Amino acid sequence: MFREYQVCSKCVMDTSDPSIEFDENGICSHCHWYEQRGIKQKSFADLISKVEDIKLNQKNSNYDVILGLSGGVDSSFLLYYCVVKLNLRPLVVHCDNGWNSEAAIHNIELLVKKLNLDLYTYIIDWEEFRELQRAFFYSDNIDLEMVTDHAMNAIQQIVCEKFKIKYSVSGQNYQSESILPRDWVHDKMDFSLIQKTAFNYGINDFKTYPYINKKLIDIEFISPLNHIDYNKEDAKKILNKFCDWKEYGGKHSESIFTKFYQNYILPTKYNIDKRRAHLSSMIKAKQITRNEALQILEKPIYDEVELINDKKYVLKKLRLDEKWFNEYIKKEYDS
Ligand SMILES: [Zn+2]
Repeated sequence: MFREYQVCSKCVMDTSDPSIEFDENGICSHCHWYEQRGIKQKSFADLISKVEDIKLNQKNSNYDVILGLSGGVDSSFLLYYCVVKLNLRPLVVHCDNGWNSEAAIHNIELLVKKLNLDLYTYIIDWEEFRELQRAFFYSDNIDLEMVTDHAMNAIQQIVCEKFKIKYSVSGQNYQSESILPRDWVHDKMDFSLIQKTAFNYGINDFKTYPYINKKLIDIEFISPLNHIDYNKEDAKKILNKFCDWKEYGGKHSESIFTKFYQNYILPTKYNIDKRRAHLSSMIKAKQITRNEALQILEKPIYDEVELINDKKYVLKKLRLDEKWFNEYIKKEYDS
């Protein structure tokens, strides 16, 4: 269906979100949703009292919380904050799906060592994971990150059950992640979709891929970054000062697949620039102005040389034929 292009007058969301609506002043439905929900920084006192509850309830366990560490800025800062500022005892969990960059591994090992913590690494068999990813490509599924995101959730469930941990801290934060169009992603907890996609591709069972098919344990999720004045740029400086934490090459450099998916597949095949959602969230949280966001969007999303190298790497690793992939990219998405 043809729709005339429109961009919100308050944020930078546009008609690349098929469900977006605009009022007579050109303000989008995401802005209205944000105001209606009254999204803002939560009380710090509430966080402290929650931390006290956690410590009391977990006093007979070796760990207070579970924390999924990707090596990116949000989860790295969260870990630092939980240990150094909140005195929590996290069990650090990491999922190795074969895509972690050297930067991510460097950051994870560094932080865990410096903070003297236990690290639980869950390794998904690469061949199994590759076939699942290929299944998502061949079924033309927009959310190619679903297999990773579902696995991370499942691993948390498995590890919490194993170590009797009732709480999970998450790096989720309204300052950069409040706005995300529903049409751009699937429900990450929906294992039946993964199962169906895998089955249609010819995969009938899962050997090492972790999945949620029943409710294992009640985990309470806490997002400390929503209770503090969290700013990614400041967080990077704090981490740099604390240890040799490094960010290599921008957002999502912790996984080459995530980078290639968000910066090439989504914009080229689906006309979706995820930076819009991220920047709009930052505008709403008053971390950036709309003009600054528009300037960032003017910049190319991928460095040309990097794109050539990353494309080669991803296709080879996933055993995708280049000719097939180029057709796949051109093929119009039919939602
Ligand atoms: Zn808006």
